[in-house]
Amino acid sequence: MQRKDISIQYTFDLTTIYPDNQSFTADFDKVSRLKEDLKQAKDSFTINSDNFYAFLKNQDEYSKLLEKLYTYCHLACDVEPENQELQSLMAKVMAFANQGNVELNFIDLKIIEASETINGYLSEDRFASYRYAIKEIIKFKEHLLSEENEQLIAQFDAISSLSSKVFDSIRFDYEPVEINGKKEFLNAATLTRFLKNKDRNVRKQAYHNFFQEYRKFENTFATTLAGIMKKDAIYAKIRKFDSPLGASVYHDDVPEDLFFKILEMANVKYRPLFHQYNSLKKELLDLDELCNYDLNIPLVNTSDYKVKVDDAFEIIKTALAPLGKDYLKIIEKSKDERWIDFYPHEKKRAGAYSGGSYLTKPFILMNYVDDYNSLSTLIHELGHSVHSYLSNSNQEYINSSYRIFVAEVASTVNETLLINHMIANAKTPEQKAYFIYEQLENCVGLLFRQPMYGEFEYLLHQKAAADEPLSSKTITELYAKLSQEYFGEEVKLDGLTGHSCYYIPHFYYNFYVYKYTLGMTVALAIVKRILDGDKGQVASYLEFLKSGGSMSPVDLLKIAHVDPLDDGIYNDAFSYFENLLQQFKETMHEKK
Ligand SMILES: [Zn+2]
Repeated sequence: MQRKDISIQYTFDLTTIYPDNQSFTADFDKVSRLKEDLKQAKDSFTINSDNFYAFLKNQDEYSKLLEKLYTYCHLACDVEPENQELQSLMAKVMAFANQGNVELNFIDLKIIEASETINGYLSEDRFASYRYAIKEIIKFKEHLLSEENEQLIAQFDAISSLSSKVFDSIRFDYEPVEINGKKEFLNAATLTRFLKNKDRNVRKQAYHNFFQEYRKFENTFATTLAGIMKKDAIYAKIRKFDSPLGASVYHDDVPEDLFFKILEMANVKYRPLFHQYNSLKKELLDLDELCNYDLNIPLVNTSDYKVKVDDAFEIIKTALAPLGKDYLKIIEKSKDERWIDFYPHEKKRAGAYSGGSYLTKPFILMNYVDDYNSLSTLIHELGHSVHSYLSNSNQEYINSSYRIFVAEVASTVNETLLINHMIANAKTPEQKAYFIYEQLENCVGLLFRQPMYGEFEYLLHQKAAADEPLSSKTITELYAKLSQEYFGEEVKLDGLTGHSCYYIPHFYYNFYVYKYTLGMTVALAIVKRILDGDKGQVASYLEFLKSGGSMSPVDLLKIAHVDPLDDGIYNDAFSYFENLLQQFKETMHEKK
């Protein structure tokens, strides 16, 4: 299918950003002038509160316009990558933005230098909306080095990412998997498929052929992994943080306790629930021995559920009805105002995302193919877009963008409301079992697996910070041990399990994975309360969405009446999982 064959109502309307070339050029000229004004003010913008206020306003204008220009180019290029005119606009905007980053990198340093005076300005009412953002900048003062040292470490930036680059560049030719005498191609995508095969020999072969490559090159992977751990440890040390974890949570403005709370809940208190699920798998699959490569065999036949875009909106509106009329009005707006580019076509970028800016609509790029996964992705991205819409319309620009911690809450609340609706309204026991199973697997990945990854990453960082050598033996033995505790005694681990850690990219992201767990936990707790009829929860949840990024993630979540440091939300989230598991048992026995 080509773009021109798609009816216009199913494409996003980028003319609402720029109706013509002139309007694009006008903004580009304006943003260029703003950059010059900001540069001119380098030595004067902190000297009195009027200058400072005017500078911040100009900086907002500059960033807003630049994001608008960028949003237009990147959305347009993603659907028409072969349009050379768009590509050159994109290149122009990117070059301008990069140059701006370099030319304007004095701003934070100047603010830190003048922090005592600026703290005084902040007590004036007109700075109210800037307080959180400016304090976040000033807070870095104790981690800032002398100018000379800063310049010195800046020179190491380019090589500090070498470990990740080497990791990303390694590609293998895996040995094929033999199925009925025929050799089948193996890569990451087909591995997922082979692990779902009913024949154990196929699963075992696929697992082996895949991970034996990682064992062959174990010293290379141990070096890249140890390299990234060491880099984080050195960064933390020279910037005077207590630990690599301390440095990571600092940038997210969350307390270290949050990380440990998530690990304690998922890896200790509630882990037996995951073991119960594995026992149930063993029983349902009727296996004498359950190996780790057996865990992906579908317990339920894949559904042939089909849904067209227009019907999808009806389902979405019903599923999200508990969030109230105002929320649904924004969902309707998204369709009426053409925020969404629905269908896949030749050359269009794959995948899905919600992406917009303060001065544009919160657009969505989809590759909708009429199945359940498409429906679920659509409601997920709508969660992000409604969040952005509410944040942008209720916050000043400076407080409008929000961190990943809170972002995934908005999308996961929607996804969870959808799957609950699907389970409650399934037409047959098969369909019901399918939706419950989907959600169980989804919960396993987010609630249980990510915190296990988190623990592994934490221990590696600890070792690196203590200058302990990280050989492949140390790394793989640790991973095998944590995996056995994770899967439980019922699951027999393959000898290559320890080496499977070398395949996972997330360990290169500096404590990233536990953020997904928090998003899911909070979302499940919120949905549970809403569906239990807690009217106040809806109002406080919407208030949270409207608050954008105006405070720390923990304070924002408290607006939604969830305290991520309190056991309550974890109890709610894991009891949701327990309940689902119970329903699954009953449905599967009913089906038999
Ligand atoms: Zn998302």
